[in-house]
Amino acid sequence: MLSRRGFVYLVGAGPGDPGLVTLRAREVLARADAVIADHLVHPEVLGWAPRGAEVVVMGKVGNLHRHPQHEITRAIVERALRGLVVVRLKGGDPGIFGRLGEEAEAVVDAGIDLEIVPGVTAASGASAYAGIPLTHRDCAPSVSLVTGHRRNDGGSGPEIDWEALGKASGTLVVYMGTRQLDGLTHRLRRAGRPADTPVAVVRRATWPDQQVVTGTLSDIAERVRQQGVEAPAVAIIGEVVRLREKLSWLERRALRGKRVLVTRAAHQAAELSCLLRAARAVPVELPLIELRPCGHRSGVEAALRALFAYDWVVFTSGNAVDFTFRRLEELGLDARTFGAARVCAVGPATADALRRQGIRADVVPPEYVGESLVEALSSAGDLKGASVLIPRAKEAREVVAQGLEERGARVEVLPMYENVRPASFPEEGLSALRTGALDAVTLASGSAARSFAALCRELGLDPAGLPCVVIGPATRKAALAEGLAVTAMPSEYTLQGLVGALEAFFTPSDGTLPGEAAPLPPRDTAHP
Ligand code: SAH
Repeated sequence: MLSRRGFVYLVGAGPGDPGLVTLRAREVLARADAVIADHLVHPEVLGWAPRGAEVVVMGKVGNLHRHPQHEITRAIVERALRGLVVVRLKGGDPGIFGRLGEEAEAVVDAGIDLEIVPGVTAASGASAYAGIPLTHRDCAPSVSLVTGHRRNDGGSGPEIDWEALGKASGTLVVYMGTRQLDGLTHRLRRAGRPADTPVAVVRRATWPDQQVVTGTLSDIAERVRQQGVEAPAVAIIGEVVRLREKLSWLERRALRGKRVLVTRAAHQAAELSCLLRAARAVPVELPLIELRPCGHRSGVEAALRALFAYDWVVFTSGNAVDFTFRRLEELGLDARTFGAARVCAVGPATADALRRQGIRADVVPPEYVGESLVEALSSAGDLKGASVLIPRAKEAREVVAQGLEERGARVEVLPMYENVRPASFPEEGLSALRTGALDAVTLASGSAARSFAALCRELGLDPAGLPCVVIGPATRKAALAEGLAVTAMPSEYTLQGLVGALEAFFTPSDGTLPGEAAPLPPRDTAHP
C-alpha cells in the first residue's frame, strides 16, 4: 500500500520577538501537523500552529543538552515517515549554529522532502535592538560569526583561528560564549586587537527583558560576571559598538518591559495587547468582563425590524454595533434596515465598527463622551419630537438618554448585551496580580473598573495598590468611586490614546530613562 509522504520544514523562528518571524514561517506553521520547537522560541509563535497540531519542545536549555541531537532528529524523521507535515522550529536562523546540516541530512537520507525557511539570527536581532550596526564603512568592513563553545562530543572539526580573528579589522559576534569571555578576550588581545576595543554583550536580544552590558576587551568579562549575565547572549566586539551610545532606541521606550494588565473582554484584548507590545510593554491578559446578549427577544426584534422608522440611531460603543448587527444577521436582515435613519457614533472606534457593516456615521462628536454626543446631535438638527433609538449595554450611563430627552427627543433605550463576570480567570493573569508582578492596569470601561476592584478585594489586595490608566472620564469616575488609583487618562479616548497616556505616565519628567546606554570610555587614540 502506498502511504502518504510527509514533509519537513526546517524553519528559523528569529531571536525572540514574534514580530521578527518571517511570513513564510508563519505560513508553514499554519499547515503543520507536528511542530518540534527549540526552547528559544517565543510561546506566542507556537500558538500559530493549528489547533490540534502536536507541539513538542526539544533541544538545548542554556548549556545543557536536554535532548541529544539524535533523539531530535529521530523525532522529526519518524513523524514525517508517518506522513505528517513536520515543522522543525529553531531559534534564530537554522543555518547559523542551528545544526541545520545534521537535521537536514537526516531528512534527505530518509528520502523525505524538505524546505528550509531562514530566520533573523541572534547577531542581527542583537545588532538592531541594541543599536549597533554590524558593519560600517569607516571601521568595520567585515563581520564574523563565531562560536565560543567548541563541540565536546569528541568529534573533529576545525579549530577557530582566534589569531586570525584577532588580526582582522572587522566586527566579531560570538555566540554561546558568555562563559568563555575571559579566555577569548585574552586571545584576541594577544593576537593584536587593542585592549580598548569596545564590546557589547546582549542577553535575550529582542525579548522585553533584553539586557546589554558594554565594556572593552580588557574589562567585559569582569563586567558580565558582576552583572550575572547568563545565556542566551551574544558578544559584539568591534568599534561599531560605540555607535550604540547614539543609536540605542529600545531603552528610550518608556514602556519597555513594563508589565501591563489588559482587562478587556477576552475577544477584545488582542487589539490592546498588540498596541502595548508595539510600545515594547509586556501585556498580561486578565479579562474581567464578558459580554453576553440580553434583552427581551421579541422587543429587540420589533425595534430592529423597524430601524428605518427612527430619526436617529445612536451607538455609544463598538460592542453595541456588533451586538446589533449580530441580531440583524440572525433575523436575516442587514444594513439596509436602517433606511434613512441617521446614525451617530460616540467615537472613532464605534464609527469604524459601523463602517465595517457598510454604514457611515452621520455624526461623531468632537469629544468621545456622552455629554459631547448630546451636544453634537442637537447641533445636527432640532431634536424636538425626534425619535431616537439607543441600542446599548443593559447597564450604562443615562446621560445620553436623559440629555436627549431634555431636548425634547422621544428616546427608546434597547438593551442588547450585558457585562458579566467571566466564569473563570486565566491563571497567568491572576498570578501576576497576586504576586505583584505588574506595573500598571488598563481600564477601558466602567464595568472593567468595578470588576477589577471587586477581584482585588476578593484576593485580599489593596485596589489602590497599582496605578490605573483609564480610557476616558466615565471610566475614571467609576474607577475613582471604587477607590482605584487613577494615574492617567488620555486626551483622546481611544485605545491608542490609552497607550500614549501610559507612556507619558512612565516617562520621567527630566526625560531620561533608566538603563539608557552608558557612555563607553573614550577611544584610545593610540589605536585608531
Ligand atoms: N540558530 C540560532 C543560534 C543558536 S545557538 C541563531 O541563528 O540565532 C544558541 C546561541 O544563540 C545562544 O547561546 C546565544 O549565543 C545565541 N542566541 C540565541 N538567541 C539569542 C537571543 N535572543 N539573544 C542573544 N543571544 C541569543
